[in-house]
Amino acid sequence: MKNITVIGAGAMGNGIAHVFAMNGYPVALADVSREALDKGLATIEKNLARMVAKEKISQEGQDATLKRISTFTDTAQAVREAALVVEAATENIELKLKLFKEIDQHAPKNAILATNTSSISITKIAAATQRPELVIGMHFMNPAPVMKLIEVIRGYATSDETTQAVMALSRKLGKVPVEANDYPGFISNRILMPMINEAIYALFESVAGVEEIDTVMKLGMAHPMGPLQLADFIGLDVCLSILNVLYEGFGNPKYAPCPLLVNMVAAGKRGVKSGEGFYSYGHGTKDLIVADAFK
Ligand code: NAD
Repeated sequence: MKNITVIGAGAMGNGIAHVFAMNGYPVALADVSREALDKGLATIEKNLARMVAKEKISQEGQDATLKRISTFTDTAQAVREAALVVEAATENIELKLKLFKEIDQHAPKNAILATNTSSISITKIAAATQRPELVIGMHFMNPAPVMKLIEVIRGYATSDETTQAVMALSRKLGKVPVEANDYPGFISNRILMPMINEAIYALFESVAGVEEIDTVMKLGMAHPMGPLQLADFIGLDVCLSILNVLYEGFGNPKYAPCPLLVNMVAAGKRGVKSGEGFYSYGHGTKDLIVADAFK
C-alpha cells in the first residue's frame, strides 16, 4: 500500500495523517473546510516539533513528514490515487453514507475504504458502496500519534484479505491492531461507555462526589484518569450519543444513559469543549475544579 487518503482534518484526521506521513506514506488530507485543513496542518507541525524537542524524530524527519502531506478540499480528487482511504469526518450517519458513496465512485476499484467511526455500523457504511468486502473499521484512539491501539472492525461482508491487509499495515505504523466484529460500540466503547455511565449513576444517586468517584478509579484501579474526567475529555454529547447507539442497538435497558447525563447535555454542559462538564475548565484543564452543581 502506498498512497493514503485521510478524509477530515479535525481532531482525529490530522493525527491519522501525522501517523501515516511519519511512517513514509504519501498522504492526501481532505476536508470540506480550508480552515480545518490549515488548522490540521498547523497541529501536525506543532506535534512533530514536540517530537523533535523530545528527540523522538530528527528535524529532517519533521520536514520530510510535512512534505509528504498534500491537502484537498475536493473529495473526488483526493481519493483518485488512493490505495487506502481512512475516513475521519464528522460522526453523522447520513454524512458518512453520502461520503462513502462518493469515495466509492472516485477511488481506484481495488482501494480499501476504512472508517474511523466510533459508533456507526461498518456494515451499514459498507452497504452504501459497491465494494463492501473492501470496507473496514480502522478505529484509531485519540491522540492518534500517541495511542498504540487500532481497533480493526470487520463489517458483515469485510473479506479476510482486507482484514489481514489492514492488520499488517497497522503493525507497520508501529501500532497494535485488535480485530473485532461489527456490533454496537465494538470492543472499546461497549466496555468504556457503560463504565462512564455507571460512574455518572453513582454521582446521580449521591453515592459519592465527583472527586471521590474519580479518585477511587485512579488510585484504586490504576486508571490514568477518572471516568468523569475522561467523559469531560471525550465530550458529554459524544458519550450520550454512543450510549444511545448501544441502547438502541442491543435493545437492552442496561445501556440506558443516566438522566443526569441527558440533562447536562441538554443544558449545554458538554465537558472540556464547552468549558464545563463534571469539572470547570475556565482556568485551563490543569486546574480541575468540580463544577458548581456538583460541589
Ligand atoms: P472533528 O469534528 O474534530 O473533525 C471532523 C472534520 O470533518 C471537520 O474538520 C469537518 O470539517 C470535516 N468534514 C465534515 N464533513 C466532511 C466531508 N463531507 N468531507 C470531508 N471532511 C468533512 O471530529 P473528530 O473528533 O476528528 O472525529 C472524526 C471521526 O473520528 C468521527 O467518526 C469520530 O467518531 C471518530 N473518532 C473520534 C475520536 C475522538 O476522540 N475525537 C476518537 C476515535 C474516533
